[in-house]
Amino acid sequence: MLDLNNRLEPCCICQHEYTTIHLESASGWKIHVCENCIEATKHNFIWMCLNCGEIYIRPKSLVIKNISDYELRKAYARSADMQIIQGIDMCIKCNPNMLFNGMNVIEKEAQC
Ligand SMILES: [Zn+2]
Ligand SMILES: [Zn+2]
Repeated sequence: MLDLNNRLEPCCICQHEYTTIHLESASGWKIHVCENCIEATKHNFIWMCLNCGEIYIRPKSLVIKNISDYELRKAYARSADMQIIQGIDMCIKCNPNMLFNGMNVIEKEAQC
C-alpha cells in the first residue's frame, strides 16, 4: 500500500533520507521508506524487527539459495518479484538465542 502525505520523516531503512512515502500494513504498523530503499526491495528482502526497529537486508538470490526446505524455497522464489518489507516479532538483537536466517519470518508484510 503506497500512500503520500506532506510530512517528511526519516527513512526507517537507511535513516538518512527524508521521505513522505510510507508503507502501512494491514496489521497497522507504518514505516517511512525513501525511494532509494523502495528500489532496493526489488533485489533484496527487507525485514524489520517490530520489537526494536532493527532492519535486516538480504539479497534475494542468497536467501532463496540458502533455504533448504523445498516448499519454503518455492514460496520465497514466488515472492522474489514483489517489493516487500516484512515485519518480524523478534530479531537476533532482541533474542540472541534465536537463529535468524530469513526463515523465521511471520506473514506480516507491507507491500507496494
Ligand atoms: Zn532509505
Ligand atoms: Zn529486534
